[in-house]
Amino acid sequence: MPDRPANADDRPTCGGCRFWKPAAGGDSRAGWGQCRRMPPTLPELEDDKLVHVGVWPHTDAADWCGEWEAA
Ligand code: SF4
Repeated sequence: MPDRPANADDRPTCGGCRFWKPAAGGDSRAGWGQCRRMPPTLPELEDDKLVHVGVWPHTDAADWCGEWEAA
C-alpha cells in the first residue's frame, strides 16, 4: 500500500504527495510546504524596477487536490 496519509475526509494529502516540498526545517507530515506540481508563477508587475521571482503555491500538509500522486 502506498504511503498515503489522509485527512479527516480520508483524502490523500499534500504531506504524502510526490510534488510537495516541506518548508525548510519542516517534516513531510506536518506544517507548510510548497506544491511543485507546476512551474512557479510570476506576480503581476507593478513596478519595473522591482525584482520579481516566481512563487509556488504554499499548502498545508493536510491540504489536498486532485493532482495528488504517491511520494
Ligand atoms: S496541491 Fe495537489 S499536487 Fe500539490 S502537493 Fe498538494 S496534493 Fe500534491
